[in-house]
Amino acid sequence: MMSRLQDISIRYLKGIGPKRAKIFSQAGINNVEELLYRFPKRYEDRTKFSPICAVQEGEAQTIKARILSRRARAALYRRSFSIIEVIAGDSTGRLNCVWFNQPYLKEYFKPGTTLILYGKVERRGKQLQMNSPEFEIVEEEGLSDTKGAVSSLNIGRIVPIYSLPERVSQRHFRQLMHFALDEYLPRVTDCLSFELRKRNSLLNIAASLRLIHFPENLQAQKEAYRRLAFEEFFLFQVPVALRKLSRKEKPGIAHKIELGLAGEFIARLPFQLTPAQSKVLAEIKEDMAKPFAMQRLLQGDVGSGKTVIATIASLIAVQGGYQAAFMVPTEILAGQHCEKIKGQLSIVNSQWPIKIGLLTSSANKKEKDKIYQEIKEGSIDLIIGTHALLEENVRFKNLGLVVIDEQHKFGVGQRALLPAKGANPDVLIMTATPIPRTLAITLYADLDISVINELPAGRKPIHTERIEEKKRDWLYGFMRKQIACGRQAYIVYPVIEESAALDLSGAKKMYAQLKKDVFGSLHMGLLHGRLKQEEQDRVMAEFRRGKIQILVATTVLEVGIDVANATLMVVEHAQRFGLSQLHQLRGRIGRGKEESFCFLLSGAAGDEAAARLEAMVKYSDGFYIAEEDLRIRGPGEFFGRRQHGLSELKIANPLTQMQLLKIAREEAVRLVAQDARLENRLNAPLKEKLLQRFPEYEKLVMVG
Ligand code: ADP
Ligand code: MG
Repeated sequence: MMSRLQDISIRYLKGIGPKRAKIFSQAGINNVEELLYRFPKRYEDRTKFSPICAVQEGEAQTIKARILSRRARAALYRRSFSIIEVIAGDSTGRLNCVWFNQPYLKEYFKPGTTLILYGKVERRGKQLQMNSPEFEIVEEEGLSDTKGAVSSLNIGRIVPIYSLPERVSQRHFRQLMHFALDEYLPRVTDCLSFELRKRNSLLNIAASLRLIHFPENLQAQKEAYRRLAFEEFFLFQVPVALRKLSRKEKPGIAHKIELGLAGEFIARLPFQLTPAQSKVLAEIKEDMAKPFAMQRLLQGDVGSGKTVIATIASLIAVQGGYQAAFMVPTEILAGQHCEKIKGQLSIVNSQWPIKIGLLTSSANKKEKDKIYQEIKEGSIDLIIGTHALLEENVRFKNLGLVVIDEQHKFGVGQRALLPAKGANPDVLIMTATPIPRTLAITLYADLDISVINELPAGRKPIHTERIEEKKRDWLYGFMRKQIACGRQAYIVYPVIEESAALDLSGAKKMYAQLKKDVFGSLHMGLLHGRLKQEEQDRVMAEFRRGKIQILVATTVLEVGIDVANATLMVVEHAQRFGLSQLHQLRGRIGRGKEESFCFLLSGAAGDEAAARLEAMVKYSDGFYIAEEDLRIRGPGEFFGRRQHGLSELKIANPLTQMQLLKIAREEAVRLVAQDARLENRLNAPLKEKLLQRFPEYEKLVMVG
């Protein structure tokens, strides 16, 4: 039997021993399939180079030139910093190139060597210069490079440029890829059927893989790219279509929504629902009343009041005798929700005794067993918990509603696991990382979408400012004054332990230092994910009670923490955070009636980071910020590295390839209508690939 490409270890390739294999593995390439799917990050057209006399300032370009001279020196202002300067020339002129802090490069740059250089050309005084260009040595030209098939991989053609495993050269990687293509392409199976490809004029997989790596021309590259991007979209859309279908097939629960308990609760809330909340609640009630399972995505900016809506929905389920389950991504958040909802319910509890339970992985066995039992016999009406709710032992008596908060923190498959514990219960999914509407409609085609597009009245805008190191003393003074007025503050660090290599200070050490040297008599607390659960709970409880005045923390704060009296946030190394993440963090303040302040401390930031910080200062609307973020980072990064479908989009970009995404969705719907369980032999390669990518579908959909 032929082995599948994903089962062939990278070690079987020529020139890859155990050591290399490890390096490749660290770069995410373990097997032949992963190698072939490591697409170039860009290409260079080496059929023609820019003559040096024609290079343009401010643009990235490729030149081919000989090294005329080189020298290494120390930087003027920082002795430990080394600089290598190379003067390179072609028949039309000369260009300076510099590299920083890579002294070993000197060895490579022997005068007379011919290089291909790629980089942005900048003006330095009167001269043009390339800073740290990518380079490739065209060794002993005329000898190796004009002979043989392998050497022609590097010159005289459109050449792929890869993100490389450590200490592997472009040339070597190219050669390896070429070898792997020759050796293994005959064995790849196409997960797209012939009919489907024909309908949409898509290349077959073998041709696409060859051409994405070694395109004969740009048109060919485009065709290959289109096919591979389609494949990514399609693999993403088939499960979406399957989910939608499986939901339609089964009857759901028609909840009674005449508002006894829930109505009483709303009437007694200390505030009025905003018009946007009321509208969304109406949509949810309508869904819940229908005899099909609700599948609704509720989007709303941080602080827009989604949680209270979810609570009301839960009460609707509970008053009709069903159980509700509320799943959140962190233990801190679970605890906080539980406390808050209990507090809110106390206003109706005398009339409607409701039992609320909390389940997280850190509970001990005895506690867990008790809760399992209570869930099973139905004495717990509303269970709040983390993914501990997904465990085998959690069995409901009568699950009627599932709420999943911050859904982007859960995997694609996890989202479906909790509802699977009931008889097609209603599902409400919430997210505070808004996704631009057009994108949401396509990516979450199996969901209906509600949006809370306003914040409760009376919220003051948050003053956001980017500040530099030299204002640190001023900042501490400002914090003291605010705290003296009774406010509380967060200081956020990107890491727990400091890192000398990355030049980052960490929460743990800074907590000790600030306590000792800066804030003396003030009460401080430390919160991060590696603390014991009880310690986290204790710290949060004290912060909530106002006993802790300054909370030093990592991004565990990012989701959901709700302390209205905290009005100050300092984010250290702000350039290290993504835009949506900064927005989430900032959402922890501005929750009460007092004015709030967010300070983004950052040293030098690259262009992209500077754009993020600027967006934070300028904008407060989460939807707008999400769009900016998506634009700046692209979808893969935007949706995070977690194992959910979207990070599988390596080359497909829903923003720029809406049309292709649409076709992929239509094809997915068509496929599922014809062969929902993928039993047709022709669909076997697709089924295999899907299961490889989303193993959880075996349980959820494939068996119906
Ligand atoms: P989200 O989950 O959308 O981030 P929350 O539900 O946590 O927002 O709400 C933020 C805060 O605003 C909570 O303290 C909540 O009690 C309060 N809140 C919710 N709705 C309203 C409203 N209509 N008016 C005033 N305050 C509200
Ligand atoms: Mg929330």
